[in-house]
Order: sequence, then structure tokens, then C-alpha cells
Amino acid sequence: MVATLLSTKSGSNLLVLVVLIKRFSMIVKKFGGTSVGTPQRIKDVANLVCGKNDDSTGCSLSECIKRNKSRNFLVLSAMSGTTNALLEIAGAMKAANKELANSLIGKLENKYESVCNDLFDDDKEGRTLAWHIVSSFFNDLYHLASHSYSEQIEKEIVAFGELISTNLMHRYLRSQGVKSVLVPALEVMRTNCQNEPDMPYIKRAVNMVISDTPEADIYLTQGFICRDREGRIHNLERGGSDYTASILGVALNADEVEIWTDIDGMHNNDPRFVEGTLPVRNLHFEEAAELAYFGAKILHPTCILPAKNANVPVRLLNTMEPKAEGTLINNELQHGKIKAVAAKDNITAIKIKSTRMLLAHGFLKKVFEVFEKYQTSIDMITTSEVGVSLTIDNEKNLDAIVAEISDFGTVTIDRDMVIICVVGDLEWQNRGFEADALDALRDIPVRMISYGGSNFNISFLIRRQDKEEALRKLSSYLFS
Ligand code: ADP
Ligand code: ASP
Ligand code: MG
Repeated sequence: MVATLLSTKSGSNLLVLVVLIKRFSMIVKKFGGTSVGTPQRIKDVANLVCGKNDDSTGCSLSECIKRNKSRNFLVLSAMSGTTNALLEIAGAMKAANKELANSLIGKLENKYESVCNDLFDDDKEGRTLAWHIVSSFFNDLYHLASHSYSEQIEKEIVAFGELISTNLMHRYLRSQGVKSVLVPALEVMRTNCQNEPDMPYIKRAVNMVISDTPEADIYLTQGFICRDREGRIHNLERGGSDYTASILGVALNADEVEIWTDIDGMHNNDPRFVEGTLPVRNLHFEEAAELAYFGAKILHPTCILPAKNANVPVRLLNTMEPKAEGTLINNELQHGKIKAVAAKDNITAIKIKSTRMLLAHGFLKKVFEVFEKYQTSIDMITTSEVGVSLTIDNEKNLDAIVAEISDFGTVTIDRDMVIICVVGDLEWQNRGFEADALDALRDIPVRMISYGGSNFNISFLIRRQDKEEALRKLSSYLFS
């Protein structure tokens, strides 16, 4: 509550008005594909965001939400499996197989028909309205599929996942009496000529919606999708709804961004490969950014930077276990602690050996210029007197890059490698952590080691076949 004293003169009397302005705090809550993956999950998310839980039985969603102390701005992904299904449809179009494209659309349409039936099982009117909206999206899809394939059409097709999930949630909330405002991401989210979020535009657009709808109980938008600077439908890449959430968190000056998913926070190792991993309670923004970039799938790699720059805390929470503590990511560093390990696949190592040029002034610049020219970013780099090794995760322009850097020396390529990244307070004056990590990997051939690039990570390049063993050994050396 903010109390503002207003003094006005009325005749000879000084009237003092005390106006209490209620300032709602804003929390951006992003729900991923599995969190909205079934009609029941959509209902669970609706209960969760309206604050309805076991203690509030008997209270309707619209009554529950009035008790919330903060306003929520929801960002939803497509229901799990839908983005892949849409990409499959685009794939069939690319292969000029219209029949397959139409039959895949039909399959998805049937799925959504039963989603509508189950979501509005006791509400015929709600079901009719929701199905009317969803089936018109499918009509648009059939229409798009009648065209020839292009990358632009693929982007338009893939956008339907988020458009459908948010419309379903919006209709469900409305059917429960909740004043949900559906904010079209295709109107408020835009990238600029560098393909970065156009923050001034997004801030203006989204805050205008908020000020135009003071009656709203809740706001809701699509993750992942946006428009490009030409106004065409575009997206923030796979998993990009996390990015939408942090961009909106900044644009709305939110108190917090919450990423709700299917696990109770960032674990100290990849739970898909290592048993017995545990949630990490606190991460510094830099630690979270390293983990996301180096393969911790729970967070999209781009999601942390906007939040870090604006100092908006990010909390990772579990939709299936809402009371679990999760992980809080902010500017606080816990000193002297290794937090977690992650792995990034599909890495290619490139070694350039040159006795003639390496020490020559400007050699590295020339090498980097080639990567810059082909817009290929470098993840790891190590140098010696006679050579430089570096890694990339995108082989699209590899042949052209190799052709150009071969002018500087002998080039060797190692494919199918993995970067293992150990993250924590790895400030160089802390003793022993790098030795512990190396010790854990003593039986595994290590192609490159990178340490000292930041205070937060040490990275190892190993073969893919050694990845799981490396992750397991690091867990048992560092965390048991
Ligand atoms: P969403 O669909 O909600 O965006 P994701 O599948 O993108 O969810 O991310 C959640 C998944 O990330 C988890 O189910 C888990 O398997 C995986 N994951 C990988 N590394 C980690 C980690 N270090 N901590 C937690 N989850 C991780
Ligand atoms: N639906 C998109 C995907 O599956 C975006 C996201 O879920 O974040 O990649
Ligand atoms: Mg994700």
C-alpha cells in the first residue's frame, strides 16, 4: 500500500485527503508444455494462479483470485507435443507431401476436440465457444498447408501451439468467472533489426494493455511467439517461452519471474542421466546463465540475461508440487560452493596448428573474423604456443569456415563431443575446486579444459560416449 497525502483548498478550509492507492505487485508466471499438457493440468494451473488450494475448498476461482496479493501475468507454452506435431506438419509440406500434412493436421484437430470436451466437461456453452475458436485456428492451419513450404510459413504454423493453449486457458478462466485478459503476443512482442527483443516497443505495448484494463484479475499471453521487425510472425526459438517470461518481467518491472515446470527447481546435475540429483536452492544469475547455456534444459539459455540486467529475481517452481521450495535465482552469491553440473551436446572441436603464425600479432583476430563472418559463435577456446583449439555448436557453415582457416595452418576436426560444465563460486583464489573436478574425471579422456574465463565455471570437452560416466562421477565427487 502506498499512502499519498493530497492537500486541496476548499473555501477557507484546508481539506486534507488521504488517498490510499493500492499498488499491486506483478509476478510473471510461465508454465511450460507439460504444465498445461492435459485438460486436467490446465485446470490445475488455473487453480494455482488463482490461489485455490486444499485450504480454500468451496471458494470459486473468481473469489479466490480476489484474495491474491499480487497480480499475475501468465505466459503459456503450447501443450506438450504440439510444437513437435506442428513442425512435423511443416516437414510434410517441405517434402511436398500435402496429403500427409493434412492428415497430421486432422490428427491434431481430433486431439484438441477431445481436449475441449474434457476441459469444459460440465459447461456446454464454454465448450462450444472454445471449440469455435480452436476450430477456426485449424481452418487457418489447413489453409496455410495448402500453400508451398517456406521458412516463413513454418513459423506461422508453429505459432498455433501457443495461440491454442492460451485461448483454451483464457476461455476456461472466463468460464469460471475470472476476468482474464488475453494479451496477444503477436501485438506486444517484437524483435528489432538485430533480432533482439525490441524492449522500448514491448514496454510501451504491454504497459498500455495493463493501464487500459484496470478491471483485469489476471493477464495471459503466448510464450515463444512474436513478430519480427517487418511485422512477420516470428519466434524466440525452441524453448523460448522462458525468454518471453523474462522479457515481460523486465518490461512490466515485475517483482519476480516464476518459471513453472515439471521438476522442483534446478538440480545439481542432469536428472535425465544421473540418479539422486538434488534441487539447488539458490543460484546467482551468472551461475544460472552458465548452466542454462551449457545444457541445463530447465532454463532457456537466453532467459537469464534480461532478468539479471534489470535485477528481477527468477524462481524455478514445480507445477506438480507447488509447495516445493524450488530455486531462487538472484544477485546473491554463496561463497565457496560448487552448485551444479551440466552437459551440452553436439559440440565440434576445431584445432588450428601453426608454428608460423600463432604468436604473430593479429593471428587470433584473423581466426575469429572467420567465425564472425559465418555468424558462428565459439563456446570454448584454449591456446598453446603452436595451436589454438576452439568449439562450436553449429556446424551449418563448418565447411566454409574450415576452407578459410586452412590458410592459417593445419586444421583438425573432432565431432560429436560434449562440453561438461561445472558451475559455482570458482573465483581463482578459491583453492581445490578445479582439482576436485579434474580428479572426478581422471579416468575419462579430456580433449580441452577451460577455466578462468569467468568466476563461475570450469568446462571440459569430452567424447559423447563418456558423458554419462563423467556426469555421474562429478556428482559423486562434488556433491556426495
Ligand atoms: P518446460 O516444458 O516446462 O519448459 P523443459 O522440458 O524445458 O520444461 O525443462 C524441464 C526439464 O529439464 C526437466 O524435466 C528435466 O528433465 C530437464 N533438466 C535438465 N537438466 C536439469 C537440471 N539441472 N535441473 C532440473 N531439470 C533439468
Ligand atoms: N512451444 C515451444 C517449444 O516447444 C516454446 C516453449 O515451449 O518454450 O519449443
Ligand atoms: Mg523449457
